[in-house]
Amino acid sequence: MRLDINSSILIFGGSGTIGSSTALHLTRKGYRNIRVLDVYPIPSAQSAGNDLNKIMGTSLRNPVDRQLSLEAEDAWSNDPTFSPYYHRSGRLDCCGSSDGINDLRDTVAKLDDAGLGHTVEWLDTEAQIIQRVPQLAGSNIQGWKGIFFERGGWLAAAKAIDSVGRELIRHGVQFSFGDSGTFQSLILSDDGKTCLGAVTKDGTRYLADRVVLASGAWTPSLVDLEDQCCSKAWVYAHMQLTPEEVKEYIGCPVVYNEDIGFFFEPTEDGVVKVCDEFPGFTRYKMHQPFGASKPTLVSIPRSHARHPTDTYPDASEITIRKAIAAFLPNFKDKELFNRAMCWCADTADANLLVCEHPRWKGCFVATGDSGHSFKLLPIIGKHIVELLEGTLQEDLREAWRWRPGSGDARKSTRAALAKDLADLPGWKHDSVDTEKGDSDHGVV
Ligand code: FAD
Repeated sequence: MRLDINSSILIFGGSGTIGSSTALHLTRKGYRNIRVLDVYPIPSAQSAGNDLNKIMGTSLRNPVDRQLSLEAEDAWSNDPTFSPYYHRSGRLDCCGSSDGINDLRDTVAKLDDAGLGHTVEWLDTEAQIIQRVPQLAGSNIQGWKGIFFERGGWLAAAKAIDSVGRELIRHGVQFSFGDSGTFQSLILSDDGKTCLGAVTKDGTRYLADRVVLASGAWTPSLVDLEDQCCSKAWVYAHMQLTPEEVKEYIGCPVVYNEDIGFFFEPTEDGVVKVCDEFPGFTRYKMHQPFGASKPTLVSIPRSHARHPTDTYPDASEITIRKAIAAFLPNFKDKELFNRAMCWCADTADANLLVCEHPRWKGCFVATGDSGHSFKLLPIIGKHIVELLEGTLQEDLREAWRWRPGSGDARKSTRAALAKDLADLPGWKHDSVDTEKGDSDHGVV
């Protein structure tokens, strides 16, 4: 059945990044029968996008990523739903290791090829780096080289998703949160080949013409994705600056070092977020997603909204402290708070997985963010609507196709295999029976 503006569409994960964007673009195109479903209200407390800030930059990995980043840059700059949340502080990519410096040179070559060379400045010496980012004056950056991106900056992530939510309310979108928004299973036709809707945790049956599963890192535990996505956690910590310190760091570009991590200028409340850089953490459990013939090992997120006392492994405290010592040595003794894990879904090739599920006509997956998709918030939904309408550009369709067996999502494009949280002490501070929780789709 072809879509028309009266078609009914369910969007699971609609309080998160990709799901809220999908709902937004459907409503903007005039669709009138849309239901956003999620475990939490928008912005979902467990969404990877519910965060102080995310990096905005142009991805040059491949032509599809480049096109999407340029579209996103335009929307963050000009769409009033998003533009208040784009902070154009600029961005410094920098490194001291020979591999890292080679990667920086490679980035410059790709920028030149893309005709964007003029938008960046190569910084060959410490003095040149400090001239661009004076806040690094006391840091140990001996031998570092850098690229300064005038155009980049950061996105006030949770606030931007909240802004989408306000627009959805104005458009009259229907919402179901909590147990009545938590995906449990699909409703299938008698021959099992067509998706007719979905059942939520409280037993509500929603019939619909299309079901979109944009449930982020939870998706591989909800439906059988044939190992195409592996859910992994990354970590961050916050520091509180004094008003004097804020004055010194306000306007500081985002500083990113692929060997160490990254930090952002202080928010209006004087909070600085610091991340380390590593291949992520998995959390493998035996589990049977909908459609799988038997239980299998699946990496399942543990929601920090549901487990607010969870922090991160002791190993992360060491690497986060290392990042602070390198970038912000004056703050190396500062107390850290909001030390947390946040979950993403890696694919083997780091491209999204956005396509119709081959076994169930009418059921679409929109996931595989691979840890770099927040910046797509303003525009990714536009392309998901094109997919639903059958008009998606061929190269996007090809990049985002169903592709089991095409690589190892556990390794993905990362430098090493992800370690499993079961082997890492320090992050769990409650006594919740996680095995019981694991069968509790969407809220573990
Ligand atoms: P989410 O935004 O997590 O949304 C998934 C939604 O599904 C949630 O709302 C959840 O509640 C819901 N859900 C789960 N289970 C169910 C269920 N059973 N039923 C219904 N709903 C359900 N990207 C960048 O572009 N720049 C960056 O600088 C950047 N930095 C990052 C730093 C960290 C530490 C992390 C963890 C990620 C970072 N990312 C960054 C990646 C970015 O956050 C993600 O790519 C993006 O937010 C993923 O969006 P999503 O919609 O797939 O998932």
